[in-house]
Amino acid sequence: MSLPETTDEILPTSTDEVCAALAENASGEQRAVFPVGGRTALHYGYAPQTPGVALSTHNLHRVIDYPARDMTITVEAGICIDNLADTLKAEGQRLPIDVAQSSRATLGGVLATDTNGARRFGFGTMRDYVIGITAVDAAGKPFHAGGRVVKNVAGYDLCKLMIGSLGTLAVVTEVTLKLKPLPESSTLLWCRFDGWQDLDAALEGLLRSDTRPVAVEALNSEAAHDVVSESRLELPTNGPIACFGFEGTQRETDWQMERLTNELKQANVAELAQVSHEQSESLWFALADFAVTSEEPLTFQAALRPSRTIEFVKLATDAGVSIVAHAGDGVVIGHLPDDVTTLEAAQSVLDPLQQMAARGDGDLIIFDCAEDWKQSIPVFGERMTHWGLMDKIKQQLDPNNLLNPGRFGLPAEAI
Ligand SMILES: Cc1cc2nc3c(=O)[nH]c(=O)nc-3n(C[C@H](O)[C@H](O)[C@H](O)COP(=O)(O)OP(=O)(O)OC[C@H]3O[C@@H](n4cnc5c(N)ncnc54)[C@H](O)[C@@H]3O)c2cc1C
Repeated sequence: MSLPETTDEILPTSTDEVCAALAENASGEQRAVFPVGGRTALHYGYAPQTPGVALSTHNLHRVIDYPARDMTITVEAGICIDNLADTLKAEGQRLPIDVAQSSRATLGGVLATDTNGARRFGFGTMRDYVIGITAVDAAGKPFHAGGRVVKNVAGYDLCKLMIGSLGTLAVVTEVTLKLKPLPESSTLLWCRFDGWQDLDAALEGLLRSDTRPVAVEALNSEAAHDVVSESRLELPTNGPIACFGFEGTQRETDWQMERLTNELKQANVAELAQVSHEQSESLWFALADFAVTSEEPLTFQAALRPSRTIEFVKLATDAGVSIVAHAGDGVVIGHLPDDVTTLEAAQSVLDPLQQMAARGDGDLIIFDCAEDWKQSIPVFGERMTHWGLMDKIKQQLDPNNLLNPGRFGLPAEAI
């Protein structure tokens, strides 16, 4: 979703200025408002049908409170992910969420898109780290949810409601996060198999392993080739690849790498490469950046039972799709091949995948494709029963449908 050319931009420097700008708009012109951060994922969702004004969080990047001893931090939502990581690193801490293009992406954008990656298996998602927010609704009224400490508050968790809401409910201006210590060691085990069956058996074997990987990734050759070339490492790419991540003390990761290496030798692994702590950073980044859509005709994310994931990956591979799967969680990201140039061709690749995801009790959403294809391919999957409730929550928080109208594809009259 790119913003209409004519979109003006406002650049507030505080929550109060966000309130003033939204209140003036709501009581005045009632223009559509598009919250934007680093603009790395504006293509996600339906394009706005009406011109409007972009509300940029570019000037909302301060650290407000960082009691490192409490392992929490409160920052403004426009802070860039890399700058946040540098601030936390100075105290030996981090937010263990993988973000593509982290030099541009903002915390508000990561929260609004519920971005996550390989480490979600071991560390969870944004819902596990956001303990407080300050946000402003379309009428310019600020509200707070959660707090500066992990609270046992009764009632609805508005923090979680904002996560994944794509800027349609409110503009998030401040976020309080709980943090994790930076690990002494972060290593990866890159394994090539001769066939998907062997790889699937190895993943099944993991259930009985003494090791505790924080990431369990599966890649096909196409994706492995791209990820390895971006990481500038020398790793095998010709065949199904499994990649296991370990984090902790040097002793813990060394033991787990050795242990899983021995376990996998019993599991028909064809080739194994241990990626050391020094080398691992570029591979973690390359895995995170795989979601970045560039020239591909269509990028999707499917979610299904972990036990059905490799079956899905195999079907997609046979259709020429480039795949990275967070196999431990049953989440699969796929780029359709460049020779898919028509809507019909895209649908013929997607239909069997959507059916398999549904059979795996999951769904398939579209991260990015040509805008006109979105009229025929349901970006957020088939309409679900809870969407009615989403409509009502949207109507409650934004009765005039001013914030990112139509983003979820819910035409105004549906509200
Ligand atoms: C589905 C998906 C696709 C992705 N595709 C790419 C990709 O192609 N390239 C890439 O580099 N990275 C991509 N990423 C990763 C990207 O780095 C992150 O999604 C990142 O979170 C976007 O941050 P941003 O600041 O750039 O957000 P933006 O792209 O500026 O905004 C993303 C969404 O968040 C909303 N938003 C932003 N800030 C706020 C706020 N403060 N309050 C409320 N709403 C807000 C916007 O309205 C918009 O709906 C993708 C992630 C996801 C989940």
